[in-house]
Amino acid sequence: MDLTKHAFFEGKIIPFAEAKISIATHGFLYGTTVFSGMRAYWNEEKKRLFVFRPFDHFHRLLNSARMMSMDIPYDEEGLIQLTLDVLRMDDWKENVYIRPTIYKADMGIGVRLHNLKDEFAMFVTAFGKYVSNDADAHLTFSSWRRIDDNAIPARGKISGAYANSALIKTDANRAGFDEAIVLDNNGHVSEGSAMNIFMVRDGVLVTPPATDNILEGITRRCVIDLARTELGIEVVERSIDRTEVFVAEELFMTGTAAQIVAATKVDHRSIGNGKMGTITSKLRILFDDIAHARVPKYRDWNVEV
Ligand code: PMP
Repeated sequence: MDLTKHAFFEGKIIPFAEAKISIATHGFLYGTTVFSGMRAYWNEEKKRLFVFRPFDHFHRLLNSARMMSMDIPYDEEGLIQLTLDVLRMDDWKENVYIRPTIYKADMGIGVRLHNLKDEFAMFVTAFGKYVSNDADAHLTFSSWRRIDDNAIPARGKISGAYANSALIKTDANRAGFDEAIVLDNNGHVSEGSAMNIFMVRDGVLVTPPATDNILEGITRRCVIDLARTELGIEVVERSIDRTEVFVAEELFMTGTAAQIVAATKVDHRSIGNGKMGTITSKLRILFDDIAHARVPKYRDWNVEV
């Protein structure tokens, strides 16, 4: 983290180093915080920074806030403007990650959602790869289960729910894997610790539906659109059984931080021919170009800073 940059905190843009909450803050004590993770990409040719699909990220953030009985005085457009204001305070010339949060801001004891003040905050950090082995990842099936919609909705990006993701990620990494696939309580594939999952079976791109305890990923939505429009392949949203993954031709995971991670092995079994597949490879190249605002047809996916 670069302490010399700026953040949005308690209604103002201030130096990041001064944006601090108390150890008694509700959102910190009880995980009653919702968040988003966006990226802005540096386009070297244009020498400009472009935020990737901020409207979608803020729309999901406000939906998460609704689930958690939170209310802030901004809509999507207002939040995009704040993001641009924060980014323009600093001279970023590289890819960055933007973390907006809405949190229960009162101090004190008492777990609940009602009669608490909500605050919006946001910071920016330089950001490279999230999964270092993103062209050849080895996944495992986690022994943890995905949180259920009736416990903590995975559809909401709720801080407290990320204890589940942390357990999944750490156990996978400590066992020597790059990332894990998590099953939901019905035994179906849901997603990774912080990314959605896709497989190619018989030439069809398949991903779990929004009702299988996933976060409704923005990268997931982009990949579905691009696969249909640019690659002309069929995309199906349906439940996936554990062993289907072993017999898939291709497997990859998607997320804002992760982008598109090609998985070539799951629990020591090779996926397809054990190398990144052609559909995965095409989508990775396409997505990277679009995210960096290099594709005129998709320029409305990027907001110039
Ligand atoms: N699932 C989970 C649990 C996540 O945390 C993320 C990252 N936001 C994703 C999926 C991918 O979503 P997106 O493409 O919107 O970043």
